[in-house]
Amino acid sequence: MARYYFACHPADLLDEGVDDAFARLRGEIGVDGVVIDAVAPARLALRPRIAQSPKIASHEAAAWFQPDSKCYSATRLRPNAAKAIKARNAMAQLCNEAASQGLAVRLRIDPLENGVLTDRNATAACVDVFGRPHDSRLCPSNPDVREYVASLVEDVSTNFVCESVELANVDFGAGLYARCDPVHGFDVSAMESMLLGWCFCSACRQRAAERDVDVDETVSAVQAHLSRIFELQPVEAASRFVEQNAHLAGYRRSRIETVTSLMKMIRRRAKRPLHLRASGDSLEAGFDCEAVADCCDGFVLAKPCGGKPPAMKMLTLEIACHPPETADGPALVSAVHDASGGKYTSICFSEYGAAPEPCLEWVRQAIRFARRESA
Ligand SMILES: [Zn+2]
Repeated sequence: MARYYFACHPADLLDEGVDDAFARLRGEIGVDGVVIDAVAPARLALRPRIAQSPKIASHEAAAWFQPDSKCYSATRLRPNAAKAIKARNAMAQLCNEAASQGLAVRLRIDPLENGVLTDRNATAACVDVFGRPHDSRLCPSNPDVREYVASLVEDVSTNFVCESVELANVDFGAGLYARCDPVHGFDVSAMESMLLGWCFCSACRQRAAERDVDVDETVSAVQAHLSRIFELQPVEAASRFVEQNAHLAGYRRSRIETVTSLMKMIRRRAKRPLHLRASGDSLEAGFDCEAVADCCDGFVLAKPCGGKPPAMKMLTLEIACHPPETADGPALVSAVHDASGGKYTSICFSEYGAAPEPCLEWVRQAIRFARRESA
């Protein structure tokens, strides 16, 4: 039978009151556990149910725990603890309270989108094909960043009592400019947007050069392709363009190898089961599910996988419990029923603090219905 989790941001739990929130999650809504952000990107969220605290939560990218300095001796990067928790060790409190109420805890680390750290460590940021460093994206090729991410996993999995660690978006992401405003007049496909977002920092260049890729040729080819688009000239499909150019194909393979080797390094430092969640188009982000399957105990999927799921003991499906992704209660009951039928070992609803009041009742009904069906 599937287990049910609710994803929770620490700020929302602390502002609601940890005891009250966990009592509600366990006793009323009926989840088996919570997925709590231990390291989260910047966040601007509307919290419709909060009465006493600000309805709009605004937080910089941060760690929501006090880092154990022993774990970070081999990297120049240090986690920046969230200003909202000051010197408190909020994560220990959250883990202890959850355990006392019978809730399992998974701790999520989403470490590479962090504008505070790129400000402090300019050379650790991704660099685009035109040579501009990115404002907030740390590069997974950079040796300090790699050691930093592995250290975070070691720190969290050693110092907090949790069922598992969920590592999210540790890859090249959806491209550096995935959130850029649409460009009017250009037909920029998702794949070309990826090309615009390929990282060419010194670490990425070096790793590719070690694999006999001519990096200058790669940069020239990408720039030329993009220039033709900017001049509204016809171009071949970006995926074929990459496949047919040996330099680009090699650079793409180097990105995948970079992420795969990082996962192997992280696996050695994890003290608890490790679940991996890829960015959207995982292979283009450098995340090869088959190659990293040996480095983890499970995958977290952001949408149902068509066809055969990855062969994994633990497979978690995330389901948004609110509109527009889920229109109403019956739609959620149906989605959870379909997902609970075998291939997913757990369902994680997103996300507790941002869910309007009626959506919590939808979740309660969906869990109750799915449990009754599988009893
Ligand atoms: Zn890079």
